[in-house]
Amino acid sequence: MTESEQTQDTNTGGSVLGGASATESAARRAVIAGLDQAIDELKALVRIPSVSWDAFDPQHVAASAEAVAELVRGLDVFDTVQIKQARIGEADVLGQPAVLATRAARNGRPTVMLYAHHDVQPPGKDEDWDSAPFDPVTRSGRLYGRGAADDKAGVMAHVASIRALVAAAGADFDLGLALFIEGEEEFGSRSFANFLADNRDELAADVIVVADSDNWDTETPALTVALRGNVTFKLSVRTLKHASHSGMFGGAVPDGMLAMIRLLATLHDEQGSVAVAGLNRYEMETPDYDEAQLRLEAGLADGVSPIGDGTILSRLWAQPAITVTGIDAPTVANASNTLSPEIAARVSVRVAPGQDSADAYRAVEEHVKANAPFGAQVVISEVDQGQPFLVDTSGWAVAEAKRAMKDAWGAEPVEAGIGGSIPFISDLVRVFPEAEILVTGVEDPDSRAHSPNESLHLGVFERAILTEALLLVRLNERA
Ligand SMILES: [Zn+2]
Repeated sequence: MTESEQTQDTNTGGSVLGGASATESAARRAVIAGLDQAIDELKALVRIPSVSWDAFDPQHVAASAEAVAELVRGLDVFDTVQIKQARIGEADVLGQPAVLATRAARNGRPTVMLYAHHDVQPPGKDEDWDSAPFDPVTRSGRLYGRGAADDKAGVMAHVASIRALVAAAGADFDLGLALFIEGEEEFGSRSFANFLADNRDELAADVIVVADSDNWDTETPALTVALRGNVTFKLSVRTLKHASHSGMFGGAVPDGMLAMIRLLATLHDEQGSVAVAGLNRYEMETPDYDEAQLRLEAGLADGVSPIGDGTILSRLWAQPAITVTGIDAPTVANASNTLSPEIAARVSVRVAPGQDSADAYRAVEEHVKANAPFGAQVVISEVDQGQPFLVDTSGWAVAEAKRAMKDAWGAEPVEAGIGGSIPFISDLVRVFPEAEILVTGVEDPDSRAHSPNESLHLGVFERAILTEALLLVRLNERA
């Protein structure tokens, strides 16, 4: 808004928000004033062990959904607040409960959908934690507990930023809101696609904020603009109709293992770069990240060199990767002098942002069939695909998100990629192709989501809330 750029408010107190409007300054004050409450409410959510996996008591996820709905009702800004479930695929089984709240836009203002999830990963062994996973405690400016970061902090960032919007703009604001707090993100978002289909009108938005990602570090915000997709499949290679003694026929006929090894070896070149024609790379600017950091974080063994080419982060974010994640073959302990007739492998392909996963799969399929050694019979089965994600960074909402990050953090945001995928994002893109999707986050590199001693940096939490509060205030004033 030009108004916000021109109005100089004397109450901002900080240099970061120089030129901020009175509304933005009020939002900033509300975020600071409301931080302790947000942390207390976050702790209460963390105390509910809402693990969404099948082997865990679904009552906890139900209790967590109810606790989130109660917080959302307490905001007193939504037309509807519901706890809803959707079917899993075609089955007559319902997924875990999500919270869905809506408020219609007025006076031509945009609608923003705020996504986070209230379920968590299993805690693992208690003895691996320095404090009990579901008993949140603060140590050295970090809040420890399962879900303290991933993603109950995302839930609370939405709640607290809406509160700041109300404090700054009044409860009668014009911005449309759809709040979607999923209950089974950590268990594969099994009913997500059906949930979108069932609630398409309620969820439709101009801008979608997915608060479930990372920041560059505790002082530098990141907008996640690229995610790799993935393709996995089972690869079976057969060379013999039955097993034979390796002394009788070895040397004259190929065994399945020889064919499989030679076939898998064609997937990479000498440098370890993927060598499959038709698997694309995406060109993106990447922040500095050196080999020493890679060695440390990936646990590269002494003397082993990294693989691939290009900047290290482009290898992780923007280039394809292929990993053999399992092989069915005789074990070493049971190895006999036998020619194996058939070997199976599980192959995992990371797809560069910008390429369709189906195209990537076809490229790999063609490569595998064209490179089968000795005419070996190759069968591919159990194919699973997830689309990559690539943000058009020229969009107005991306610009607004980056401006809010810069103002809230006092640092330029990094456009980041993620080597792994967030599978449900492709569903959002498919169902809401017109919406701009902003993947933001409350995590930092030390958050250890999914691991023991998961934690939230409380400074990052405050800045994430402020970022979202500024974004909401500005969208509320956007024509
Ligand atoms: Zn998450």
